Amino acid sequence: MRTYDSIVADLQSGVTSCEGITREYLAAAERGKGLNALLAVFPERALEQARSVDKKLSAGTAGPLAGMVMTVKDVICQKGEKVTCGSKILENFVSPYDATVVERLRSADAILLGKTNMDEFAMGSSTENSAFGRVKLPQDESRVPGGSSGGSAVAVKAGISTTSLGSDTGGSIRQPAAFTGVVGLKPTYGRVSRFGLVAFASSFDSIGPFALTTKDAARVLGVIAGYDPADSTSVNVPVPDYGASLNKEVKGLRVGIPGEYFTDALDSEIRAAIERRLDVLRSNGAVIREVSLPHTEYTIATYYILATAEASSNLARYDGARYGFRAGGVKDLTEMYVQSRSKGFGPEVKRRIMLGTYVLSAGYYDAYYRKGQKVRRLIQNDFIEAFKNVDCLITPTTPSTSFKAGEKSNDPLQMYLSDVFTTSANLAGIPGISIPCGTDQQGLPIGLQILGKQFDEATILRVADFLETIH
Ligand code: GLN
Repeated sequence: MRTYDSIVADLQSGVTSCEGITREYLAAAERGKGLNALLAVFPERALEQARSVDKKLSAGTAGPLAGMVMTVKDVICQKGEKVTCGSKILENFVSPYDATVVERLRSADAILLGKTNMDEFAMGSSTENSAFGRVKLPQDESRVPGGSSGGSAVAVKAGISTTSLGSDTGGSIRQPAAFTGVVGLKPTYGRVSRFGLVAFASSFDSIGPFALTTKDAARVLGVIAGYDPADSTSVNVPVPDYGASLNKEVKGLRVGIPGEYFTDALDSEIRAAIERRLDVLRSNGAVIREVSLPHTEYTIATYYILATAEASSNLARYDGARYGFRAGGVKDLTEMYVQSRSKGFGPEVKRRIMLGTYVLSAGYYDAYYRKGQKVRRLIQNDFIEAFKNVDCLITPTTPSTSFKAGEKSNDPLQMYLSDVFTTSANLAGIPGISIPCGTDQQGLPIGLQILGKQFDEATILRVADFLETIH
């Protein structure tokens, strides 16, 4: 495991080259195979890219991420490579273009090593829903790394890549970051282009980085953030220098604690770990205030109504005709559609398509979908009100630490409840970061979540960076 600072130091002193570093990571990927974090590795492409970055380094023309070795969740398109979304229905689908984020990483001279395993179409909280097998938690292989970006979290934790890109629709970056003990950042909706991200729930999806440190997450965000004319929901606002928010004091910073996130149901070790961090903030001059987010109890229900509605519409395009898998031996077009979808999608994806189709159907649209949209607005308003008095909010990332594989896979509702503290940020479109916050008695990582105002990633990065120094 190494941070980008250590890579830069080694490149500068000449101890190694980008090619050497890439070889180190390829070896780590080989050693870590059993974790099942990667769906594809591109050794030749990565080494070729590394050699060209080495040339740029000697010419003094290398980009800001030169020598950072990265993996990308397999829901993000990389030209000429497969993009499976963890699904059999896209098993052999090759992307004809690069996602904007991939293009930007490449121009910044990050080295793209491979694609990471994930819950099918990013639906899940444990990375057990992949058609290509579950991902294992490096600290205890009988446990889950969280999801749906479990492969990316594990790639970073196991030193298979310096950083990784994931996607977060309801918590899929922050929750696996918490379970594995790394940093995971979900930017504001619209901050990072979704062009080339295969859609799950278009009004919720955000791409963001996993890293060992806040500084590395900030570096990656700085490269991928910013307006993109190819994504009509990307917002044209300036991207600050995130590095400048780091190494700052917290004196005078107003931190809100939403009472609704600290109920009796919260694991006592998680509560204690968070409270210790709050004490440190207080003793360093931050002002800690109780705030209320009164519609918190509706977040899971609202999320699962609206996200499934959007998913059912987005996934209609996988019909056997246009992409990937097509069922054979069928007698007509209708049977081809039915068989391709029945055989191509896994059980969780089918459940979501059914739920989403139901809430959008003529008789139930007003009762579920329209009402869900109204409650989403109330949840957004809760945050707008809270941020009138505080600069950021601190909460636990998850109600428990990593669970055993199989423990929740037969009980979808229990699985959905793992997202109880993360879905609100996607409903409100605000940024959130999960950082490591010690471990429980079993040695399993605890995550602390910091939520910020729309487009104010700088503040949450500043607080995350400050807290990182506390053990
Ligand atoms: N676990 C949540 C779900 O299953 C969130 C997934 C995500 O953020 N992609 O929908």
